[in-house]
Amino acid sequence: MDQLAVMVVGAGMGGLAVTLALRQQGIATVLYEQAPELSEVGAGIMLTPNACRALMALGVFEAIDARAQRPGATHYRDYRTGAILTSVHYDEAFQRRYGGPYLTIHRADLQDALKQAVLAHDPTILQLGHRLVEVEQDEHRVTACFANGVRASADLLIACDGIKSVVREQVFGLGSATFSGHVAYRGMVPIERLGPEYRTADTSTTLGPGQHWVMYTVKQGAFLNYVAIPERGAWTEESWSVPATAEELRQEFAHWHASYHQLIDLTPPERLFKWGLFDRAPLPRWVAGRVALLGDAAHPTTPFMAQGAAMAFEDAVVLGRALAASQTLPEALATYERVRLPRGSWVQVRSRFFGQLYHKQAPPDEISLERRAANDVLYPYDAASVPLEGAPLPA
Ligand SMILES: Cc1cc2nc3c(=O)[nH]c(=O)nc-3n(C[C@H](O)[C@H](O)[C@H](O)COP(=O)(O)OP(=O)(O)OC[C@H]3O[C@@H](n4cnc5c(N)ncnc54)[C@H](O)[C@@H]3O)c2cc1C
Repeated sequence: MDQLAVMVVGAGMGGLAVTLALRQQGIATVLYEQAPELSEVGAGIMLTPNACRALMALGVFEAIDARAQRPGATHYRDYRTGAILTSVHYDEAFQRRYGGPYLTIHRADLQDALKQAVLAHDPTILQLGHRLVEVEQDEHRVTACFANGVRASADLLIACDGIKSVVREQVFGLGSATFSGHVAYRGMVPIERLGPEYRTADTSTTLGPGQHWVMYTVKQGAFLNYVAIPERGAWTEESWSVPATAEELRQEFAHWHASYHQLIDLTPPERLFKWGLFDRAPLPRWVAGRVALLGDAAHPTTPFMAQGAAMAFEDAVVLGRALAASQTLPEALATYERVRLPRGSWVQVRSRFFGQLYHKQAPPDEISLERRAANDVLYPYDAASVPLEGAPLPA
């Protein structure tokens, strides 16, 4: 293929990762982001072995690992007592089985490590303050129009503009993501406010009726990060992430053990937010002419399997490989869609299923078994070596 010029829109997890993947292949890339600066609201993120392997392929794993934590286990707990019901261990056998570790990290640390790696390739690559408002394309070029009046053209536009993607709606006409019926409250508690039982890298998942609560430490153990997820009929807030109050969270989890209420009370008000969780049915296609969707723009997913960012990293590695291996752009994009769409769609559907399973309070052993079956599909995947012909998935 002749030398390509590529525009990436959105400098979140997917946009930064695919910019790295393209630069690795020597493809000229500009990354446009609407925000005036990159900043992540405080929250944690889990990186499963498949995510770690994709980050290794992008050459950023070591920088991320240095800022991450390695939990020894996930403990499933009872919401009435806080007691451990069963545990899944991330031991040597786990790493051997899946070929990689399991990390937890603060999102800002992850994003910063990706950004530093991108800027190390070329400090001018990242164009902040560019909000895409319109896309035009013909058989020769694709043009992006930004709210600041800038127009830019390239051979390919990769839309990494997230779960509410403008490009998905405009170019694909496929409708927006819809409210999943779940709200995620995310809080961070300084560890010095907590007792010794919280000074561990292990993660916890507590299941209650119609609710669950995930927590683990971030920032080298300096904060306990929690995500508390109740159900709700509608999301009526103007923005999809807004500050939350301790009082409303306490009311949502009124029947839970006192230790959860203590965590809520110890959360500094400026470190408590809530998100409406959105997803949508899998898309029939991710590519239209010279435009390709990647990350949440392609597969808006609930977070119940901790796979949204992982899928974006895998997408990035595979798209980079497809562009390097193909004779033409249509061939490369068809390869990308063929390899990635079935897996991204599978995660969207399975993730919904796990939301239901958690909230109907299935026995922890049943959840462990279901998770293990899903993990056996997800975790061994190696985006750097998966055949570009595509591989079958279980039903
Ligand atoms: C509560 C919660 C917990 C989660 N936990 C995990 C986890 O443990 N593990 C995991 O793998 N995933 C997790 N996820 C999912 C993960 O956060 C997302 O899947 C991931 O951030 C998607 O990356 P992205 O690049 O597609 O989108 P984003 O990271 O959302 O980035 C989109 C970027 O595009 C920019 N943008 C948007 N519109 C425009 C425009 N018009 N013009 C220019 N720029 C634009 C935005 O400003 C943003 O920078 C979680 C999600 C939630 C809500």
